[in-house]
Amino acid sequence: MSHNFQLRSSALPLRFFPGGLGARFLCNEPKHLGSSNSVGVAVASPASRTLQRHQAKATAKEVGVQETAQGSAALGWAARDASGVLSPFDFSRRAQKDDDVTIKVLYCGICHTDLYTIKNEWGTAMYPVVPGHEILGVVTSAGSGVTKFKAGETVGVGYFLGSCRSCECCGNGYENYCSGMVLTSNGTDREHGGEVTQGGFSDVIVANQDYVVRVPDGLPLAGAAPLLCAGVTVYSPMMRFGLNAPGKHLGVVGLGGLGHVAVKFGKAFGMKVTVISTSPGKREEALERLGADEFLVSRDPEQMQAAFGTMDGILDTVSAWHPISPLFALMKPMGQMVFVGGPTKPLELPAYAIVPGGKGIAGNCVGGIGDCQAMLEFAGKHGITAEVEVIKMDYVNTALERLEKNDVRYRFVIDVAGSLGSTA
Ligand code: NAP
Ligand code: ZN
Repeated sequence: MSHNFQLRSSALPLRFFPGGLGARFLCNEPKHLGSSNSVGVAVASPASRTLQRHQAKATAKEVGVQETAQGSAALGWAARDASGVLSPFDFSRRAQKDDDVTIKVLYCGICHTDLYTIKNEWGTAMYPVVPGHEILGVVTSAGSGVTKFKAGETVGVGYFLGSCRSCECCGNGYENYCSGMVLTSNGTDREHGGEVTQGGFSDVIVANQDYVVRVPDGLPLAGAAPLLCAGVTVYSPMMRFGLNAPGKHLGVVGLGGLGHVAVKFGKAFGMKVTVISTSPGKREEALERLGADEFLVSRDPEQMQAAFGTMDGILDTVSAWHPISPLFALMKPMGQMVFVGGPTKPLELPAYAIVPGGKGIAGNCVGGIGDCQAMLEFAGKHGITAEVEVIKMDYVNTALERLEKNDVRYRFVIDVAGSLGSTA
């Protein structure tokens, strides 16, 4: 299969961060039309949409979603420019195909990646952008070829909802590293006419069944939503690098959306977990509520020195530039560092930080679909969910400002169904 991809030179600084991959590799030019008719195949005016919704209620009781031969009317909140301010946006979802499911979005987490994207900090935004890739919802309709899901099931969609299916990565369950990965939001969906994908800050989404995961019964729904990105992003490298062994010592840098979930997984694996944070005010919660064993303030050299050479591995989840040499010093010889954060400014790595101790360094971008499903099963078994502040959609701009200021414990989750009124 030939992709004829082009690397967009304006996105070069983002090479560091694989999360931008699906958006960086473009098949010809993206559909960048800058108006509501740039998405979907049928654009509903607000008035016609209201009518369609009314009809939908009469015909599809539980669904609350109008499906047409051409697609579904959808309501989201989108950023129109790099101010990143979101406002209501009417658009259309593509028509459901035989192997697709239509999902009514119940909850969607707000990931720091959404913030970079809507403000075009990675240089990849294709406005209007409906963010959101921690999508938890209910299947409202399944195509005739769908075997994995049926209407009424609780499911999730994460950071991507497509890949080439034929490369080595896809063959090995690493769809997340496929160069043809289609981002759930602000991606280019080549299989569907190159349309720009719109994410989960919207009432409905259509996805191929192979990129949808089942959410185990019993997990609180709002708290489970962030697992779709934050959860798998930390779980996947923990499995890949053996940072899941009981008794091993894991460091988690940055106690935000990703970091706090990493603490929970680490403890469920039976590890010793130390949080490395810039926020002394998070100490008590980290130790008492999240179950961490120790808490280090990274800007306190004495605390850092006392933990010298004690950790088997570190997950660095920090969203901004920060000094990393002191972090390598915390690891034992041959310790493994995994970066998952995507600061816009390059991190600095002097060779002496890794060479003498033979230390490893890796990156990780979310996880494959199989990993995501396994993570959810594990979370279900151990009762792991994110600590969330549930908000309505009209609070989203304030929430984004607060996220930027590191003022959230520990993930905002939008009550989408309770805000956008799509419930039948
Ligand atoms: P978040 O909730 O904002 O958490 C980031 C944490 O980083 C903050 O809570 C803070 O923790 C720490 N931090 C912030 N500014 C800092 C600074 N100047 N110096 C040191 N530490 C600082 O963000 P998130 O949603 O967890 O995402 C974290 C990063 O991972 C983002 O870059 C995001 O884009 C990226 N991400 C990557 C993937 C992937 O697949 N690789 C997936 C999702 C997200 P303390 O207060 O404890 O210091
Ligand atoms: Zn994310």
